[in-house]
Amino acid sequence: GVRVRFAPSPTGFLHLGGLRTALYNYIFARKHQGAFILRLEDTDQSRVVTGAAEGIEDMLDWAGIPPDESPHRGGPVGPYQQSHRLELYKKASEVLLENGAAYRCFCTPQRLELLKKDALRNRQTPRYDNRCRHLSSERVAEKLAQGSDYVVRFQLKEGVEPFLDLVYGWNKHEVATVEGDPVILKGDGFPTYHLANVVDDHHMGISHVLRGTEWLTSTSKHLLIYRAFGWDPPRFGHLPLLLNKDGSKLSKRQGDIFLEHFVQDGCLPEALLDIITNCGSGFAGNQMGRTLEELILEFDVGRITTHSALLDLDKLPEFNRIHLIQQIGDERLRRKLVMELQMQVEQVYGNRLVDREVLEKDYVERVLLLRKGHISRLKNLVAPEYSFLWVRPSVSREQLQTISAEVDEIGKLVIGLMEGQTAALTTEGLNEDLRGLQEQIRGTTYSSMMKLLRLALSGQQQGPSVAEMMVSLGSREVCERIKKALS
Ligand code: GLU
Repeated sequence: GVRVRFAPSPTGFLHLGGLRTALYNYIFARKHQGAFILRLEDTDQSRVVTGAAEGIEDMLDWAGIPPDESPHRGGPVGPYQQSHRLELYKKASEVLLENGAAYRCFCTPQRLELLKKDALRNRQTPRYDNRCRHLSSERVAEKLAQGSDYVVRFQLKEGVEPFLDLVYGWNKHEVATVEGDPVILKGDGFPTYHLANVVDDHHMGISHVLRGTEWLTSTSKHLLIYRAFGWDPPRFGHLPLLLNKDGSKLSKRQGDIFLEHFVQDGCLPEALLDIITNCGSGFAGNQMGRTLEELILEFDVGRITTHSALLDLDKLPEFNRIHLIQQIGDERLRRKLVMELQMQVEQVYGNRLVDREVLEKDYVERVLLLRKGHISRLKNLVAPEYSFLWVRPSVSREQLQTISAEVDEIGKLVIGLMEGQTAALTTEGLNEDLRGLQEQIRGTTYSSMMKLLRLALSGQQQGPSVAEMMVSLGSREVCERIKKALS
């Protein structure tokens, strides 16, 4: 069966590039009824950041693409964290030492440093000169007996075979002609990326490796390692780069790219998944507003092109707005949004709330339905501009009088209008009623009347239409507010 993995190094927070790699793997797994695995590649202990591992898994859960097997969840081929699998890599390196594919290298850091300096002086890329490849077994035994420090290096063979990348087509990189033999096991017993990655993909039964294109040139090396073990390699597919819209490297400079930032910002995970796939390839189309289910349906690895994906984060609010419209329109998802908004209101306004009723489900739901399409974040509704929904404004008769001298007249008529309502309020109905009302008042224009009502109801000069405010607040609250302002 299909088994894929996302294998980040826990060196920091999950960013959009990582999320995209994880997402393609998740989608591929779902598409083929396979398993999606999270494996932490923490073999470079000096770069590990505490909390990063948990953070990554939390963010995958938040995004709605949870792994089936992971450090936290466990699974049949764990542990899922490389630092807990050191014994396995040691054994694997011994296999390669025995069959001659790897060798011990006793070169001192000083010698390697000299090699490097020489190369740089001659304007060459530094590479190990493979000197220890040729040590006799007697010499090795001697060194070991002396207790000399060593690393294990993999002997790069020439004549690599081409492989068929799922995205980039036929590929091969004559690694032996450009690099020295790579270290696969360090002096401290930790493996390097290349060994651990191959050993784990094999032992975890990975069928397809979908990863960033920066690894394309390492794949020939990995294939040599598979061959040295006598293992069948997985299929490889490299994903083109995700870049800023101007083609520069996706980086913090163009706005925060870490997932925690988007969570904080009240972004819907569905919108984030949509925007990072929308700018790339792999899907039947790229219309906005696709759910994860739709992405899975539309995905085909054969549709991924080698073009970089250019991400325009300025469009994120629009993606979010569209996903909000969809979710507000879906009863089950709307219920979740209502709960979320209730929580936010409580958090922001707490004991300043008009009364507990504004926290009730029906009220909050009505607000959501009315503002559908006008907001790009749920949290817009707890911003000062919408505070009238949750707390009563304090407006004085004097303030109202500066707009129109007919405050009492207007107040009385609107209260009458509200008290006379039998059916649920609608914006259309109210607009008509308010027009009719104005005709009964001499000395005030329609626009002054609306300005006055807006101020009385919200304490503000801008916002949704007066009729919509009235529908949101309900007739009882409208009357309360007018009475309060006129008292
Ligand atoms: N640990 C590597 C990374 O951080 C994984 C690369 C791969 O998927 O093989 O990108």
